[in-house]
Amino acid sequence: MKKYTRRTFSTVLGRGLGGATLLSGLPMAYAMGGEGQEKKSLGVALVGLGGYSTYQLAPALQETRYCHLAGIVTGTAAKEHTWAQKYGIPEAHIYNYENFDSIAGDDAIDIVYVVLPNSMHAEYGIRAARAGKHVICEKPMAISVAECEAIMAACEAAGVKLAVGYRLHSEPYTREVKRIVKEKTFGEVRYVSADAAYISGGNPDQWRLDIKLSGGGALMNMGVYSIQSLIYGCGKNPISVRAQEFSTRPEYFRQTDETITAQFEFPGGTVGQMMTSHNANANRLYASCDEGWFELQPANNYGPLHGRTSLGPLQFPHERQQKLQMDDFASHILFGTPNRAPGEMGKRDMIIVEAIYRSVAEGSSKIALDLGDMGLV
Ligand code: NAD
Repeated sequence: MKKYTRRTFSTVLGRGLGGATLLSGLPMAYAMGGEGQEKKSLGVALVGLGGYSTYQLAPALQETRYCHLAGIVTGTAAKEHTWAQKYGIPEAHIYNYENFDSIAGDDAIDIVYVVLPNSMHAEYGIRAARAGKHVICEKPMAISVAECEAIMAACEAAGVKLAVGYRLHSEPYTREVKRIVKEKTFGEVRYVSADAAYISGGNPDQWRLDIKLSGGGALMNMGVYSIQSLIYGCGKNPISVRAQEFSTRPEYFRQTDETITAQFEFPGGTVGQMMTSHNANANRLYASCDEGWFELQPANNYGPLHGRTSLGPLQFPHERQQKLQMDDFASHILFGTPNRAPGEMGKRDMIIVEAIYRSVAEGSSKIALDLGDMGLV
């Protein structure tokens, strides 16, 4: 185990990982803009111009170095004009859901980023792969394991890369947690706990509350963050889960789960528990280890995240997570750097989601999981 004093801990982290994060693991000459280097940037098309594309992804794509906003796919004619004006997108790179497949002939588009309601991820991810484009699927990757496998198979067949929109794997506090766990800075993680929740209000007909479009409630939406946190919080995949569902506003959550808790066993005796809800606010990862503890709170919002450990606080400069995420994926395509959130990670999480729903349906039965190292990056 590495020894840190309280004073050196955050300094070492701030210099070490912070710097590494900014360079995203790229070859130094390229990252530093060495002479004679070709400066490539991949074109990204956003499919679905809702809240996440509008307020996070498009602004982030103005800051990225290895990719840029090159096209849009929308079913709303008015948005075509607004986005074309705002981001200078030529008409030739604007698509709707009917003519989307003709994106295959558009050399300006290298990556298609699917930012639609969850149940549409599989269809558009598969169509994008068949068009020969690299694919990013927003989280959850799809609404069933079978759909995740179909997207992965389509990408494999087309020879294109696939990532899930798990932005936190490019985020410095999360990456530091992964490093702490890997290097056993505080010894073995014995207990890990993760909460991801917010209070849902407003339109009861929104797609997130419509089971056909969302595939599920809090668990599909925020629960994947809890599952992710638990796994990178101890560096292992779970071997079993038991889950419970709580409903207090059934008139509002007519079709989808409101609150779910679950308890996990991990190899080596590590124990975990999670909560996810559309009826409470929570945003935390905590891990107790043999020789200390660490915590992120908030752990999964757009940042800056906040981190503490038994040796002192974590401190990293803030950058837009989506910028880091998309540059990491573009670098993976361009330079072969690691894919920080590959398709099998999204599929693994959906296996766990399905196990949780099954446990709930069976009165909190214990469901065994046989995941091996699937999706551990
Ligand atoms: P949103 O409701 O703001 O936007 C959805 C978009 O899909 C809209 O442009 C809408 O017009 C379009 N759409 C097409 N067909 C539709 C249909 N049948 N019903 C409803 N909308 C339809 O949603 P959002 O918040 O942008 O979420 C989109 C995806 O992004 C979801 O999968 C969500 O989980 C994911 N997301 C991820 C993050 C993250 O931090 N990674 C954050 C927010 C959302």
